[in-house]
Amino acid sequence: MKNFMIDISVDKKTCIGCTLCRRACPVNAIAITDRKAEINRDNCISCGKCAVVCPTKAIDFPSDYNKVDEMLKNNEKIFLLVAPSFVVHYGDMIEDLLLDWRSCGFDKIAEITYGAKLITKKYQELIKENAKPRYITSTCPVTFDFILKFEKDNIEAIAPVVSPMIAMGMATRKYFPEHKVIFLGPCPAKIVEAREYDVIDAVLTFLEFDKLLKEHRGKIEVEKNEMNETFDNFYDNRSKIYPRSGGLSHIMIEHGILKEGEYVAKDGVLSIKELFEGPEGEYPPHIKFFDVLFCPGGCIGGPGLKSVLSIEEKMQYVDEYRRKTQESDKELIKKFNFNLNDDFDLTPCFCKK
Ligand code: SF4
Ligand code: SF4
Repeated sequence: MKNFMIDISVDKKTCIGCTLCRRACPVNAIAITDRKAEINRDNCISCGKCAVVCPTKAIDFPSDYNKVDEMLKNNEKIFLLVAPSFVVHYGDMIEDLLLDWRSCGFDKIAEITYGAKLITKKYQELIKENAKPRYITSTCPVTFDFILKFEKDNIEAIAPVVSPMIAMGMATRKYFPEHKVIFLGPCPAKIVEAREYDVIDAVLTFLEFDKLLKEHRGKIEVEKNEMNETFDNFYDNRSKIYPRSGGLSHIMIEHGILKEGEYVAKDGVLSIKELFEGPEGEYPPHIKFFDVLFCPGGCIGGPGLKSVLSIEEKMQYVDEYRRKTQESDKELIKKFNFNLNDDFDLTPCFCKK
């Protein structure tokens, strides 16, 4: 399997040797030599944490900010796909947020929940087939890279399923071929994943999006009406808990795909290491699923998201958002009842190479 290759480097002129990046790196891929940071590319798993903490912006991590800025300046038709973790960064005043975001010139805006729904169905098929003793989730590109580099014995267990972002990109390309597709989320590593497919044109973190909002907010006048105050096409309210640790397993239990006790959910580098370093046979055969996200608490702990909340509070926030929207979203679900039998090839690029 091929790992996601990343272009990352340190500008020695601007690095002040503060060591913040080294301390943020979860896999010790950074050394400080002569008061300058050096990245060991063989160990780097593209998480982007170092670039976020660097006070002098000395770490050159890929960014699509300029690309999206140009698209907006050129008035291109853009479909913005938003990770549901946005509620942790921006709060849940959806109507106000959508009016604000649309005023920058985004033609359509949707949560990626329909993509999550598509992949839940694929996971259901895998678990029913029962071809392997257990599967490890492949929704998190950093976990994927971590397994490829440091936990090679577990490579075969990685589920052959694309992430919700890619599945959603496929659906958006199919139904909106004229639009540029931008993914907005908490994870800098998504840019690396997106480059392996041709369904996402650019990726932004919430932190980058904040900067973009300052530049483009109010560019167009947006009428305050129901249409502009709600998400556009594609919808599924259950999968709004995907970004928190154990979210995918929880949904599979709700769908009757898994039973309680048949999965282990882990988040954060230490507990993931523990999971894989456990003695052989520690997990009994009835455990069919390792639900693993690299950041603490899951994607809600991603470095591209800013929040003063604790992990537990963020989790509650995401759960509460889903609970609150369950009633109000019933109409939207009827309205955007897309066909789950669309024949997207949800096999990830790493299985094809
Ligand atoms: S955080 Fe930035 S300035 Fe500090 S050591 Fe790392 S690269 Fe250099
Ligand atoms: S991107 Fe992540 S793994 Fe790579 S050097 Fe930076 S902090 Fe370490």
